[in-house]
Amino acid sequence: MPIYEYQCRECDHRFEILQRMGKGSQKLACPNCDRKTLDKQFSIFSGSVAGNVGSANADACGSGRFT
Ligand SMILES: [Zn+2]
Repeated sequence: MPIYEYQCRECDHRFEILQRMGKGSQKLACPNCDRKTLDKQFSIFSGSVAGNVGSANADACGSGRFT
């Protein structure tokens, strides 16, 4: 399940929410100030995985496997 990270524009409070794809984002409000001025930002998954899937994984997995 993907984890979404939000940052509130009013109070700069940051929080993470486990959420299904495409649902529920409209009703979210900041737990700190109860505003809905939230900036949505993908955390954890997209940042680390999307970048160098090919080279990084090939090196890490490939070298040890056939020995
Ligand atoms: Zn807030």
